[in-house]
Amino acid sequence: MKPQASHAANHPAFTADYKPAPYWWDQSPLAASSQQTPPGSVDVAVIGAGYTGLHAAIQTARAGLSTVVFDAESAGYGCSSRNGGQISTSIKYNYPELAKKYGERLAHDILTIGKASLDYVEAFVTAENIECAHSVCGRFHGAHNARAYTALARELDTPNPVFDSGAFTVPKQQQHRELGTDAYHGGVVFPHYASVDPGQYHRGVLATAKNAGAQVISHCNVTGFSKHTSGHTLHTALGDCVAGQVIVATNGYTTNLTPWQRRRVIPIGSYIIATDEIDSALMDKLMPTNRMLTDSRKLVYYYRPSPDRKRILFGGRVSLNETDPSRSAVKLRTELVRLFPELAGVKISHSWAGTVAYTFNSLMHCGEQQGLHYAMGYCGSGVGMASYLGRSIGRQVSGADTDPIALSQIKFPTRPLYTGTPWFLAPSIWLYRMRDRLSW
Ligand SMILES: Cc1cc2nc3c(=O)[nH]c(=O)nc-3n(C[C@H](O)[C@H](O)[C@H](O)COP(=O)(O)OP(=O)(O)OC[C@H]3O[C@@H](n4cnc5c(N)ncnc54)[C@H](O)[C@@H]3O)c2cc1C
Repeated sequence: MKPQASHAANHPAFTADYKPAPYWWDQSPLAASSQQTPPGSVDVAVIGAGYTGLHAAIQTARAGLSTVVFDAESAGYGCSSRNGGQISTSIKYNYPELAKKYGERLAHDILTIGKASLDYVEAFVTAENIECAHSVCGRFHGAHNARAYTALARELDTPNPVFDSGAFTVPKQQQHRELGTDAYHGGVVFPHYASVDPGQYHRGVLATAKNAGAQVISHCNVTGFSKHTSGHTLHTALGDCVAGQVIVATNGYTTNLTPWQRRRVIPIGSYIIATDEIDSALMDKLMPTNRMLTDSRKLVYYYRPSPDRKRILFGGRVSLNETDPSRSAVKLRTELVRLFPELAGVKISHSWAGTVAYTFNSLMHCGEQQGLHYAMGYCGSGVGMASYLGRSIGRQVSGADTDPIALSQIKFPTRPLYTGTPWFLAPSIWLYRMRDRLSW
């Protein structure tokens, strides 16, 4: 989605220096294009320079394979420099649900990947010395009605044979310890969940990939493939490149270049605002801890204090295909003020959007299809998982790991007649919005 500034001009909700661009880009601007010519041939070509593609490239380059990463835009232009910086296990099902769908062994292995992805980012930023405000701060998940609180509390008793989440309930009477709002009916704290400055994190991952020897070529759209016995020829905007192995890491930006994958991911817009600076006493009242924040609504809102605690970053799926982030900003601000009436006068300094990839079974997927390796479909929760699955695919491609990844053993489903344009989203989102409003 390309930003436009139209709606914000003279609108009282915006600061005078409002930017229709990610807040993170102020400190970590996307790297300028260097207009490199693609190498004639490489061992590995990666399509997409977000967390997935770069973590894959780090592994293949460190294994001694010549590696090039292409991005149609600047490296990081996709979700990886736009997200909220909340890190969880990313797995949306509990053990009994997974075991019912896929059997006990795969259920166990999928939950293990979820926990590993959470731990991996922490270990990676420590080992690579990446300054990105990583913090194991925990997350408070608010219940939007009393029934949701009961369900969340019951969920904590569900067996998890892989790890103890340490999660605990916070009843409504004690909610202000976590969050200065009366809008929720209590909630649950997940103490192991973490936070990061996603722009700084992406910049660090990009530098690590380059230091490992990967060539990263931005503004170089891959427009087609020709398959042959020893690999693929990639046709790009800047010339052809013959690659022994190809990794597709395009997630919500997947196009008809890879129609099999495109038929399996559902692109959905996600929108965020940053507020202007807030008085520190008010910030301490509204967000007394540094925890990440989400809630139990179907159309979830996710928010947090900025790493310096001067602003609130507030996101959600308030629009479907809005291309003017200042329009979605006004909707987000309305919800922010509903949660925190004290912010009635707050202005918006930044607003932006990105495209996440949902899947038909709400799980992320990876594997190999017709000689193309891929990892994608993080369902809006991919900071940790994209990093970890990118690494895992890179290790498969380099031969460092030979055991199949559990998530490659489950079917990556599509639906009849679905070709990548989610015509069904509008009615589903309308229904979810109604359910949330009526507190079903
Ligand atoms: C607003 C927003 C908030 C989010 N908040 C969170 C959060 O708080 N926590 C969380 O865990 N997740 C969050 N996410 C999701 C998370 O950011 C993503 O799951 C993750 O960044 C995906 O990384 P990726 O590398 O797979 O894809 P991306 O970072 O999206 O990268 C894909 C890249 O592929 C490139 N590309 C596509 N086609 C081609 C082609 N033909 N040739 C060359 N390049 C191509 C694109 O230009 C793009 O840069 C959020 C996402 C958004 C948009």
